[in-house]
This record gives sequence, structure tokens and C-alpha cells, in this order.
Amino acid sequence: MSEHVNICEVGPRDGLQIAKTRMSTDAKVAWIAAMAAAGVREIEVGSFVPPRVIPQMADTEEVVRRSLEIPGLTVIALAPNLRGAQNAYNTGAHKISVPVSVSEGHSRANLNRTPAESVAEMARLMEWVKAQPRRMEVIAGASTAFGCSIDGVVPTAQVVEVTTGLAKAGVDKIMLADTVGYGHPAQIKEVVRAVRDAIGPVLYGLHLHDTMGLGLANALAGLEEGIRAFDSCLGGLGGCPYAPGASGNVVTEDLVFMLESMGFATGIDLPKLLEARALLHEGLPAEPLAGQTAKAGIPKTFRRAA
Ligand code: ZN
Repeated sequence: MSEHVNICEVGPRDGLQIAKTRMSTDAKVAWIAAMAAAGVREIEVGSFVPPRVIPQMADTEEVVRRSLEIPGLTVIALAPNLRGAQNAYNTGAHKISVPVSVSEGHSRANLNRTPAESVAEMARLMEWVKAQPRRMEVIAGASTAFGCSIDGVVPTAQVVEVTTGLAKAGVDKIMLADTVGYGHPAQIKEVVRAVRDAIGPVLYGLHLHDTMGLGLANALAGLEEGIRAFDSCLGGLGGCPYAPGASGNVVTEDLVFMLESMGFATGIDLPKLLEARALLHEGLPAEPLAGQTAKAGIPKTFRRAA
């Protein structure tokens, strides 16, 4: 049996938040269903942010409700604060992801508070979550962990400090996010090691962007450090409205191609996943899609991991 790697598709959230046109609710749900049919088990389907902030996410409640009807799918929603967490819980989301910026500049621009204030807010959020009859898993996303378009270099010690605070606040898992995609493989290794030394298995996965073309190289570096969970976007959509210069996420299809070829099982059927691009394109015809696997086609040498 091959080792399993968990892929969380974040296209309907991270991918759509900076798209120039709006994708209709029906198109979103059809696209999510197609990815689930290809074997994607975890999808971040939307964000409980105020619609005036990110209009593309105004229908998140309905998208969550309809996604919950897709068999076998774990439905994740982004929640920027306690109120968002409460909305996600009341809508029935299985898990929430809560972004906390490691760098001061991104934190102020994105969340209008300091990283320390975000950690304190997380403690309050966890207190509320743990008091509910249904336990909703909370994944903290440590944003700008590998560099910031506002502050520049983000020291590893700062990443350790913020993630240690989040672990103490009681979050279930932490994703280290290269929000703007400035990280490189040696840095990925250094930060993963330092954070794991500090918080152990609460460090769960990597959220990578492909700004400098190093998305897959960074995923491989994480893999070599024992990381077995990644966020990615079909067609490499994505970016951050508060991180100028940020480009798309690591491409799900290409990541699946790499992992399966190396013998890591993802549970995802690559030909079916490529078919889901058609639904994405239909729902968002103006948005250019990235991805080498789609461009080149699946080579004859490809074998899915056993
Ligand atoms: Zn992102």
C-alpha cells in the first residue's frame, strides 16, 4: 500500500476571491461536485466574510449547504473571526479554516489587527467552538509564513512564535501558508522543522502559491520533511486581495500528477480531475487557467499509485 497524501482543493475559496468576474452559485456547485466525483475528498467551498469585502463569496452559505449533500465530501469554509465561525457552524460546515497572518503588515491589511491580537481572538474562537454540541474542526492557516509582499522577510522565529500561540489556543491543525509565494525549498524545510520542533503534530500541512514557479518544488521539500497534506487549486487559480503580486495556488492537477507518479496515493482520479476543468471554465470563462498536465496531456508513462 502506498502512503497517502491529503489534498484539500481550495479553488472555490482562494481561487475565486480575486477572480474578475463572479461565478454563479449553480456553476460553483457543479464544479465542486465534479471535483468530488474525481475523488477530491476535502474542498474549501467558500468564505464567511462580509459580502462587501469579497462579493464573490456572498453565496457561501448556499454553497456550503448544497456541498453538504455531495456524498463523502468534507466541506470546509473559511472563517476570518468568531462571527464567521458561528455562521459556518450554523450552516453545517464540517471544518473551518481560520487565517492568521504571521507578518504584521499583512495582518493589518487583511484582518485589521496584529498577529498577537489574532492569536488572542483564536483562543476566544476555540472556546466557543469547544462549547458547541457538534465539534467542528478548526484549521489555522498561518499566512505569510514564508515572506510578505508588505514586510518582506518573515523571520522563522516569528513563524514559530505565532504557530506556538495558535497551538496553545487549542486549534486542531495548522497549515503553513506561503500566501504570496515567495518561499523556496530550503526555506520550506527550515521553517517546517522549526515549527514541528515547537508544536509537533499540530503542524499539519502546506498551503503553497506558485508566484515564482516554485510551487511544486516547495511541495516536494515539504514532502521530504514528512508533510502529508497540501492545499491546491484546480487550474492554479488564486491569490490574495491584500497581497499585491500574489499569483495562483499550486495547481491541483500537477500536484496529483507528481504525487501519484512518485507512489503517493491521493485518492484522486487524474483524468476525471482534468475533466472538472471544463466546468470551472464554463463558470468562469474569462479567467485564464494554468497547469502543465492539462496543457501537455497525461503522458503514457503515468501510473497511478497503488
Ligand atoms: Zn492562498
